[in-house]
Amino acid sequence: MLDERYTLAYKLYPYERSPDQDKPQATRHPVVVMGGGPIGIGMALDLGLQGIPVVVLDDHEGVGMGSRAICFAKRCLEIADRYGCGEPMLEKGVVWNLGKVFHKDHKVFEFNLLPEEGHKFPAFINLQQPYYESFQIERLRELQAQGAPIEIRGKNRVDGVTVHDDHVVLEVMTPDGPYKIEADWLIGADGASSPLRNMLDLEFSGKVFQDSFLIADIKITSDVKFPTERWFWFEPTHGSGASTLLHKQPDDVWRVDFQIGWDVDRKEELKEQNIRRRLDAFLGDVQYDIVWSSIYTFQCKRMDSFRSGRVFFAGDSAHQVSPFGARGANSGMQDVDNLGWKLGLVINGLAGEALLDSYDTERTHGADENILNSTRSTDFITPKSQQSRIFRDAVLGLSADYEFARPLVNSGRLSVPCTYDGSPLNSADALAGPERTRPGSACPDVKLRDGYLLNQLGNDFVLLCINTDGPDELEESGIKLRTVKLTPSDDPEGRIAERYLGDVPSAVYLIRPDQHVAARRETYNEHLVRAEIRRAIGKE
Ligand SMILES: Cc1cc2nc3c(=O)[nH]c(=O)nc-3n(C[C@H](O)[C@H](O)[C@H](O)COP(=O)(O)OP(=O)(O)OC[C@H]3O[C@@H](n4cnc5c(N)ncnc54)[C@H](O)[C@@H]3O)c2cc1C
Repeated sequence: MLDERYTLAYKLYPYERSPDQDKPQATRHPVVVMGGGPIGIGMALDLGLQGIPVVVLDDHEGVGMGSRAICFAKRCLEIADRYGCGEPMLEKGVVWNLGKVFHKDHKVFEFNLLPEEGHKFPAFINLQQPYYESFQIERLRELQAQGAPIEIRGKNRVDGVTVHDDHVVLEVMTPDGPYKIEADWLIGADGASSPLRNMLDLEFSGKVFQDSFLIADIKITSDVKFPTERWFWFEPTHGSGASTLLHKQPDDVWRVDFQIGWDVDRKEELKEQNIRRRLDAFLGDVQYDIVWSSIYTFQCKRMDSFRSGRVFFAGDSAHQVSPFGARGANSGMQDVDNLGWKLGLVINGLAGEALLDSYDTERTHGADENILNSTRSTDFITPKSQQSRIFRDAVLGLSADYEFARPLVNSGRLSVPCTYDGSPLNSADALAGPERTRPGSACPDVKLRDGYLLNQLGNDFVLLCINTDGPDELEESGIKLRTVKLTPSDDPEGRIAERYLGDVPSAVYLIRPDQHVAARRETYNEHLVRAEIRRAIGKE
């Protein structure tokens, strides 16, 4: 039996019988992805763009109903853009940079997430998760039409996995019954309760938070317009919960999120009249339709390691955080951004398995950063000890009048790209340049005379030469390096200089396919750049 665990918003990959189901022997595939959520599909796009054959298995036939994620961060959109689906997301999404924090009825704090210009993508857009996933699938279909070796199989539930030294065997259930396939590599992108993690009996440790949140996505039908800003109330006077969040989404839908406590009767709380009671207390005379509602609880947990032999975990299956800070899907997309090129090089015989271990090193570092930030926000929003509450209330009390207290107000530190400090793939920093572009950093975007820097960097290893010469091309250990040369005439607003040079006159950056800096120096030196490439692919 293949049960529907959730209702579909869009049926995008209906079940079709695969030729694999009629073969007497299990077919071997280079990569199988278990789970077709945003992270599984992101993985398929990354590999498909490299020409690596990939099969995605999902137990449903499309995208689930309900918005879940709404805040998609700049880095996540830049990754989507690298895969070719960032622009429709930006077009559909609601752009916002400004957030306001209230304590009871008083505004205590206001923040702007993107105070600087010259980026293709804003700090955040709000976009319902089903839209995000639909744009990914549209792109997947476009790539398939161009011949990319990506396959997605709906109503294919993975029920069993056996891991061998050099491959994995999967038992798959379909409406036509079970079949088996094999994979050289398996990616677990099967969500927070990850059946794969359980099948392999792997640990998922951390902290469960004892609080519940009621979400209502509502379409306002009266003539009231709230500003396109994130508004967060601590101890709101409307009495609908211990905190409340209000956020705009496309199609005139608003997300309202009430903190309602741990000991609640979920069934009772989800009755329409009870949701309306809270909403009415909050919104007053505003008229609205309820589009979607849900109650969520959360945990901050991660697996000890994101690699287990031939199996990798990415997204919620590998790590889970609270929704404050919007670090779930946003960090999952950084997982696939990191894993895709590494797996591609190993499959193409250009790198050894040490490169794959660096996925675990770099992304567990990212997960720890997210868990730390998410836990701090949660502790501030839902203080669980008398001391934490005294601290929280003092900060909120002071921040209305005293600037020093405002940075301590924590209604969710919003997702920013992870810097892989200390990664074994980084070469020692050889440039007295800006801190924000040190080895390990995700390249900040820059508006150039023609287009944007990140679009020029693309999906390859790139040597970025700024105000200095470099080779037109270079090949090391099978890696073909592409050179992007920029001079002051490409940078009329001086932002390359500000973000990549600082006080030095020139720079040569070695940039990985995931657009993270691997090495930098002032001028080109072939011998050293070759060594830096070898290091960046785990060969030194
Ligand atoms: C209320 C709420 C608000 C959120 N807000 C944000 C936000 O603003 N920003 C943000 O970045 N994140 C947010 N998140 C988190 C975000 O929704 C998740 O991080 C994201 O969905 C994770 O994607 P995933 O692909 O890893 O997992 P999922 O989206 O859970 O996808 C897993 C897929 O695997 C499939 N699957 C499961 N088992 C099997 C099996 N045995 N065989 C085959 N397929 C299987 C499932 O059907 C599903 O399609 C929020 C989450 C919640 C609950």
